[in-house]
Amino acid sequence: MRRKKIAILGSTGSIGRQTLDVLSAFKDDFEVIGLAAGKNVQLLAEQIKEHNPRFVSLTDSSLAQELKSILKNPALEIFWGDMGLEFISSCSCDIVVNGLVGSLGLKPTISALSHGKRVAFANKETLVIAGNLIKDLIDRYHGEIIPLDSEHVAIHQCVNNAKKEDIKRIILTASGGPFRTWAKSQIQSATKEQALKHPTWVMGQKITIDSATLMNKGLEVIEAMHLFDISHKQTDVFIHPQSIMHSAVEFVDGNIIAQLGATDMKLPIQYSLYYPERKQLPFNLFCDLLSVGKLEFEKPDYERFPCLKLAYEVAEKGKSYPIVLNAANEIAVDMLLKEQISFDKIATIISDSLETHVACEPKSLEEIIQIDKDARNKATELKKRIKQVMA
Ligand code: MG
Repeated sequence: MRRKKIAILGSTGSIGRQTLDVLSAFKDDFEVIGLAAGKNVQLLAEQIKEHNPRFVSLTDSSLAQELKSILKNPALEIFWGDMGLEFISSCSCDIVVNGLVGSLGLKPTISALSHGKRVAFANKETLVIAGNLIKDLIDRYHGEIIPLDSEHVAIHQCVNNAKKEDIKRIILTASGGPFRTWAKSQIQSATKEQALKHPTWVMGQKITIDSATLMNKGLEVIEAMHLFDISHKQTDVFIHPQSIMHSAVEFVDGNIIAQLGATDMKLPIQYSLYYPERKQLPFNLFCDLLSVGKLEFEKPDYERFPCLKLAYEVAEKGKSYPIVLNAANEIAVDMLLKEQISFDKIATIISDSLETHVACEPKSLEEIIQIDKDARNKATELKKRIKQVMA
């Protein structure tokens, strides 16, 4: 059988690196044809030596030039910028792995789906801001999205092509992040370093902060609504500190089917790349339930984690609100990472952005991009005011 051709968007990020780890273990089944990275030229150069892709892309032309001078490989085609991402996402591959962070992933997703590709999808923000547009593209060009996020891979297996009307609710689990047991006053004065210490998962910085605020789970609820065509009222979030049950589906006849496994992204990545086949796991990542011992579940506390509540409010309101929620969150998380705001101001910036937003029903990509841009500008303004207060 011919090897499947893979393109990876965000190859030097957390999902990209772990996808390449999985692909290294299955060289007979897959070949890497395209890699799109951001600014990490050194790591991309190493990945190229190991996986020998035909096309690569970086953020800008000077980085592309730097790569060219390191590698001296005339057969390799090097691209950059938005055009580079779009080229890699629509190149002659079978599967596009979208491991980009934030709304940066929107245009390449559209490009891949417009070429009828299968997209292994870890870029939840894109579905949050443009879920309806993405679904239209899938219908029109017969592409598909296979989830790669651990919760949605779990739900995908639990649903297993069941009839929509048989599903009562989806239970998304969350580890609870580093502040699960902290008092509200402690969380308010939490530092960036404390927020970046995730108890169970190893992930990129943005998603780790989103896990500390529980916004990650809020975005995942909206992602699940689009992926599985359900209402927010059919979703529940359970805090599950062991991170062994990755999610569950309750059916109308009272049966609950849950998916369990090790806390390692290589498992959902392998599932997503091979679906509908299953392959022997090449890593020592089998889950020993006896050593886990017990599984616990708690209700999330909206008082201490207001971002999850904001996401549910937005899921109910729909329209352009999810775009504003996501844009304000991306800006606020970036500010926290630059140590320009305190941890509790993330929720303040998002909530203020939503309160003053005049909602509309975006119909096109251009409208979505404009709303996203306006929301970013407004969140940046709010941030300046907060900075003045802090100073
Ligand atoms: Mg997840």
